[in-house]
Amino acid sequence: MQNDIPFKLFNTETKQKEVVFPIDGKTLRFYACGPTVYNYAHIGNFRTYVFEDLLRRSLEFFDFQVKMVMNITDVDDKTIKGAKENNLSLEEYIKPYFDAFFEDLKTLHIKPADVYPKATDYIQEMIDIILDLLNKGYAYTGTDGCVYFSIKQFSNYGRLSHLKLQELKKGASQRVNVDEYEKEEASDFVLWKAYDEKRDGKIYWDSPFGKGRPGWHLECSTMAMKILGKSIDIHAGGIDNMFPHHENEIAQSECYSGRQFVKIWVHSAHLVVEDKKMSKSLGNFYTLRDLLDKGYSGRQVRYLLMQAHYRTPLNFTMQGLESAKLSLDRLQSFIERINGLDSDTSFPSMDKTIEDAKISFSRFLADDLNISGALSVVFDFIRNIHSLCDNNALGKQDKKKIIEFLQSINSVLGVLELNKEEAEIPLEIKEALDKREEARKNKNWPLADELRDFILSKGYKIEDSPKGPYVKKA
Ligand SMILES: [Zn+2]
Repeated sequence: MQNDIPFKLFNTETKQKEVVFPIDGKTLRFYACGPTVYNYAHIGNFRTYVFEDLLRRSLEFFDFQVKMVMNITDVDDKTIKGAKENNLSLEEYIKPYFDAFFEDLKTLHIKPADVYPKATDYIQEMIDIILDLLNKGYAYTGTDGCVYFSIKQFSNYGRLSHLKLQELKKGASQRVNVDEYEKEEASDFVLWKAYDEKRDGKIYWDSPFGKGRPGWHLECSTMAMKILGKSIDIHAGGIDNMFPHHENEIAQSECYSGRQFVKIWVHSAHLVVEDKKMSKSLGNFYTLRDLLDKGYSGRQVRYLLMQAHYRTPLNFTMQGLESAKLSLDRLQSFIERINGLDSDTSFPSMDKTIEDAKISFSRFLADDLNISGALSVVFDFIRNIHSLCDNNALGKQDKKKIIEFLQSINSVLGVLELNKEEAEIPLEIKEALDKREEARKNKNWPLADELRDFILSKGYKIEDSPKGPYVKKA
């Protein structure tokens, strides 16, 4: 059904809504810039990750096959600085943040990407690309020993961020060797950063151009092309990454491959907190963990982050989070009411009511992810069903159909708890079950037993099903 509706996304590069279809006719190849694991991700980061998840789930709702890659930046200016200051290896330093990131994704009900490549696993591939760019004359070695990309060699530089020509000319004479820079002017950017013992300690790789490490921009290009191919369908990220990061990705990738790197670029807008830029000094800086500590759930935070259209700046407020909680409570009490339907009555036009809602919901999503439109369809539907319930017009048959419909829209929204039993299982028990599964996979039987005993001691038992084990109250 959804296939009759063309799915459109706003492409930052062309500034137009474009119909999505896979370049290869089969699979949409989707790359999203992931975290730099030098710290806990904050809610501004998660706004982008939730948007990307919503996009991916929507594409799947439209029956697209999606292959999604999100990189993990484990080597850049920030991780090296952190490792050095704490006298740890890069791996040791990033480990807690790396683990926390995946825990946070789970808390926010973000579906795992198909691949999470780490930059340090692709150093050789990065070196190969630099060699190619040097051979073709797109790159040069500076007097400081770093290898730079020469933007004046790429006539298309600036086409994503729509930079003005003057700014480009000014940039032609300068270069920067830091991973991120905020200047609104273009500069030659670093592909390979020469080693500096004082700054880098023991962190470096050998290469034909000397000891050092790759530039951050090159990391994304390399992993995207290596895993998804030289032309990819969708590349997403926060608006902060559009310039220079994504502009630079285009330049180096296209000079290397000779092909168009990305068909559709999508960017999510900023998040501010109580109308102000989030900063630690203003005391309005939140990680997901800060909000969980205040008693909110991952679903509530997800709902708030998802509510505003992704291209609109989102003003995060505690009041907003409170009303997200209320909206979700309303949805949950609706589900409870539906679960209680047990009469033999059935509503003659239930199929049509659901079909209409599903079509409207789909149309809104297909229009560049119009989430407020899609949510208004859900709330209208609920109002309608509530009044049918008030009139005792619904029964068991309707319950089944309504729950199925909610399941299907929840495959996009990811905020509803539809399974009553599951809803009542505490998080620590669910986590223990996941850990036990992992232990069993690794044949760590003592740990698996220990976790089973823990689950039992809390009054739950483990049952098996075709979909894998689950827990229920003992
Ligand atoms: Zn990136």
